Amino acid sequence: MTVSRPDGLGDIANLGMTLAEAKLLLAQVQQQVVAAQVDTHAAFRPDCRSCGRRCHVKDWQPHRIATLFGEVRLKLPRFLCAGCGCGETGVGWPSHCRSTPELNQLQARLSALMPYRVAVDLQQHLLPVDAGKSPETLRSHTLLVGKQLGHAAAEKSPAATAITMSLDATFIRSCEEGERQLEVRVGNVETGDGGRQVFGAVSRTETDITTLIQRTLETVGRTDTTKVTAFTDGCPGLRTVLTNTGVTKPPILDWFHIAMRLQHTKLAAANLSTDSPDRLMAKAVIVAEVERLHWRIWNGKAKNAQRSINRIRKVMHVFKGESSQRAKGVASRKLWHALHAVDKYLRGQAAWLVNYAKRFRAGLRVGTSITEGTANFLVNRRMNKSQQMRWSRNGADLLLQVRCAVYNGTLGAGVGHRFDRISDADSALAKAA
Ligand SMILES: [Zn+2]
Repeated sequence: MTVSRPDGLGDIANLGMTLAEAKLLLAQVQQQVVAAQVDTHAAFRPDCRSCGRRCHVKDWQPHRIATLFGEVRLKLPRFLCAGCGCGETGVGWPSHCRSTPELNQLQARLSALMPYRVAVDLQQHLLPVDAGKSPETLRSHTLLVGKQLGHAAAEKSPAATAITMSLDATFIRSCEEGERQLEVRVGNVETGDGGRQVFGAVSRTETDITTLIQRTLETVGRTDTTKVTAFTDGCPGLRTVLTNTGVTKPPILDWFHIAMRLQHTKLAAANLSTDSPDRLMAKAVIVAEVERLHWRIWNGKAKNAQRSINRIRKVMHVFKGESSQRAKGVASRKLWHALHAVDKYLRGQAAWLVNYAKRFRAGLRVGTSITEGTANFLVNRRMNKSQQMRWSRNGADLLLQVRCAVYNGTLGAGVGHRFDRISDADSALAKAA
């Protein structure tokens, strides 16, 4: 191959090789490397596994293998023992193998982060990959990697004195007959020194959530003396899962879940119209009362939260007939719904609320450090964004295993997108409080 670029650097676009040239070059180098490997392999004669005598070549079998740098075609010898007639392949991989593990892993990594179709495009754009051009191929490679991850042994960390764990549930749309939704359980565990692992499983699949959590806890160094604090919302199913994994202390309601609802309330209050003196006054009362509501819950006085909610409801009548603000909708109606959501949530979760301010001052966590919530981070970003995405139970579960492995840095050999050390996410929350 000859690389011939225009000499004139008057145009910056002429500088260096183009992507097309680089892809072609890589593909050709790959062919040469493989050809040399095949030559070496051709001279190799294994010993028989049963009688130990030297094998001879029986025939040559053609292979077509997709690699990161293009498809390679090769003929490999099959061997036969002269003594006992046993067959040998001389390679450690199965004869139906069609792609290299590194290609599979790259495809799995891309698929974990973006839709299969987009992943195909990106891969085709950057690499001289000429196999795996369809989203279906990418999907099957990804699910295969997901399956292998389930069997991989956990790597253990030194003992941790304290671990915080969050457990959450979300739903994705099902493509299977007779089912609308699939339940997904997700969470993350964190140690005091900044270690973190995320985990997730679609319910009723081969991935058992209890086993998965136990394995994750072991990975970050749980021992008999480790103090485990769990954050969840009060859903009985999740509490049972926690008990099964050996977390006996009652879980705490994750501050994130409350903060999210309070945020909706604040936004709606801020958008209330002020087109009359009555409304101007009422809005001032409401904005102040929403702040107080926030302060009360943060300081463990959720019982008094009801007072704030009642006070707001009492003055809301002046917004009757409030007009819609285009895309924003009717602020007072939104506020009404948001308040209702906060109220209902507090009533249902009362047993799991704590004094968050006190915990925070004592240097204890008030929730997960993934500030957008683990469910959104792990599941919704990739699997729930578009309403058109529908999932099979096993397909969703295996993709989720890959997604977790990408964030945990356990996919492939040391090329993980490991988490940054946990930043002081709690102070961001405290500022918001
Ligand atoms: Zn033999």
